Amino acid sequence: MRDPRYDILFTPVQIGPVTAKNRFFQVPHCNGMGHAMPLAHAAMREVKAEGGWAVVSTEECEIHPSSDLTPYVEARLWDDRDIPALALMCDKVHAHGALAAVELSHNGPTASNLYSREVLIGPSHQPSKYGYPSQARAMSLKDIAEYRRWHREAAVRAMRAGMDIVYVYAAHDLSLPMHFLQRRRNQRTDAYGGSLENRVRLLREVLEDTRDAIGHRCGVALRFATEELLGGGGVELNEAKDIVAMLAELPDLWDVNVAAWYNDSVPSRFAAEGAQEPFVAFVKQVTSKPVVGVGRFTSPDTMVSQIKRGVLDLIGAARPSIADPFLPAKVEQGRIDDIRECIGCNICVSGDMTISPIRCTQNPTMGEEWRKDWHPERIAPASKPGRVLVVGGGPAGLEAARALGQRGYEVSLAEARKELGGRVTREARLPGLAEWARVRDWRLGQIHKLTNVSVYLDSALTAQDVLDFGAEHVVLATGCHWRRDGYGRSHGAPIPGFVDNPKVYTLDDLMDGRIPAGRIAVLDDDGFYYASIAAEQLHAHGCEVVYVTPEDTLAPWSQNTLDYRHIRKRLAKLGIEVIVSHTVTGYDGEILTLEHAWEDRQQPLAVDAVLTVTARLPNDALYQQLLEREADWADAGTHSVRNIGDSDAPGLIAHAVYAGHRYARELGEPVTGEVAFKRHFHAAGT
Ligand code: ADP
Ligand code: SF4
Repeated sequence: MRDPRYDILFTPVQIGPVTAKNRFFQVPHCNGMGHAMPLAHAAMREVKAEGGWAVVSTEECEIHPSSDLTPYVEARLWDDRDIPALALMCDKVHAHGALAAVELSHNGPTASNLYSREVLIGPSHQPSKYGYPSQARAMSLKDIAEYRRWHREAAVRAMRAGMDIVYVYAAHDLSLPMHFLQRRRNQRTDAYGGSLENRVRLLREVLEDTRDAIGHRCGVALRFATEELLGGGGVELNEAKDIVAMLAELPDLWDVNVAAWYNDSVPSRFAAEGAQEPFVAFVKQVTSKPVVGVGRFTSPDTMVSQIKRGVLDLIGAARPSIADPFLPAKVEQGRIDDIRECIGCNICVSGDMTISPIRCTQNPTMGEEWRKDWHPERIAPASKPGRVLVVGGGPAGLEAARALGQRGYEVSLAEARKELGGRVTREARLPGLAEWARVRDWRLGQIHKLTNVSVYLDSALTAQDVLDFGAEHVVLATGCHWRRDGYGRSHGAPIPGFVDNPKVYTLDDLMDGRIPAGRIAVLDDDGFYYASIAAEQLHAHGCEVVYVTPEDTLAPWSQNTLDYRHIRKRLAKLGIEVIVSHTVTGYDGEILTLEHAWEDRQQPLAVDAVLTVTARLPNDALYQQLLEREADWADAGTHSVRNIGDSDAPGLIAHAVYAGHRYARELGEPVTGEVAFKRHFHAAGT
């Protein structure tokens, strides 16, 4: 039963001619499937509607070939032939009583046109974004008229597809109406440039066009960035206040946030729940129209507070809806403990960035709704329930135990340590990563509700223990450890002087509380977030840190999770020296020898210790021992032994959770061929 304190979250909100049945609003988010995988996309949106979101939006939707975002895969409404793909989504969203919304966008100089080969357009002549070696040309008045026509026609197509809400997009530095607002992009001297009134003109016109074209049937939403944190060249809060005042009653809904994307979907390491409030709270004071905003909201108390304090009318969510598509339903049913809270790791973002289907650390079914028929809440009962021993209580083991328990297996989970969670428990103690523990906490909460899952702590099992236990199925999720020898992406062999050197530390040492002192080199040959965290941790312990990497920039993969700029700023603020483009050729306990990647020269670096972050090795000894004793399995009553997660091949936490979930889903089910999922096939010539 719903807690009456949350009643306000379930009151309807009028958005122009349509009504949202409650205040849960899935704002637009990319997913790496878009127009290329319409069935997968529609199924993913459907589970959000089924899970109780009143509004379910697309990602950015290109309106014309000159707004082509290739290689990124977003939604598309170039012409009528694109309507059926989005109609598919609308039908599925409507089937659950939710509204469908589309975010129309023409990204001007921030498009690519790599596929369409159209010339880029923008308010003024300027280089294209993302480093493509081409330029956008300044739009003529005729171009502006054409753009308005494309937008209008796309809005009509959206309505024909069944959309209930159509967005005008002026956020994220990703759309022409925003580009016209920005002084750094708009140097025009005609009626569309110069004064604020002139720079707002296009946005106003497009809002009016959209209302005129579809306002009788659809709500018109404006997605608007109130701050870019770039100073005078960008949209600034003071000017944004004037803009909101100028357009206050024109849209049916204000969707407000901070630009660019890295300032909007900030990783939890750098921003807490509700961090955008200081930038968007003013909007409701200026307009009578409903306001939606985001803040990685997972707590219903925070949501209620946002509404009661007059900050927002609708609770916007991308990541919380990805981590738990059933968040609204759980609040409604009084199942607050069951909410699978987003951890703010932005692995979901990496799907879009790497042009692959969305995945989520917390929700292993995300992106698998259609191609694997995986539902975030439901799972088929075991056709033949039996006893399963799960060894290791990290993310892989916990998820396997939980999902196996949900399927009705008799599960025993053995963990060597006195606490569960494996790497997430350990990493959560590092600076800024506290929310990683949610991966453990949600699974533990679910497991405690299952009477058929038993947990044994302080139980380091040997191969003999496993065989003596005599479970029908054994799954090993025994994790991995960081290499001490320096082998990594660029270092193709152990680094001389590293092995058995007490002055060489790993992240495991750091997480176990063995922290060096003095001047420390952090060697990053991994490229993601770990080395920057180690640097931060060492700095907090009073060490003088030098960050060394063979890459030409630090933490390059963190671009894919929007961490990169925040990491750079953080390390700069802490005064951490960074040496890029250098490999390490040796360490004698006093001097670390660096070799320049491009120039034929070496550099000595005097350091008291080295913290090496290069690669990991699976803890698969137990698995290997059990394989050697395969002849004994039958006597033990054991039919299968599997190794999953980091003890199979070290990876992201998301990989470990997925591996645990997949194991549980597939146990006892017939194998259906080499390809374990459905694919989209596009018939030639159509
Ligand atoms: P993953 O990410 O694959 O889940 P983790 O490293 O997070 O891996 O977790 C592995 C867990 O397995 C750790 O908590 C570790 O203590 C536990 N473990 C490792 N070997 C054994 C063993 N022989 N018996 C029981 N637990 C083990
Ligand atoms: Fe949240 Fe991480 Fe899932 Fe994204 S991938 S929704 S940030 S838990």
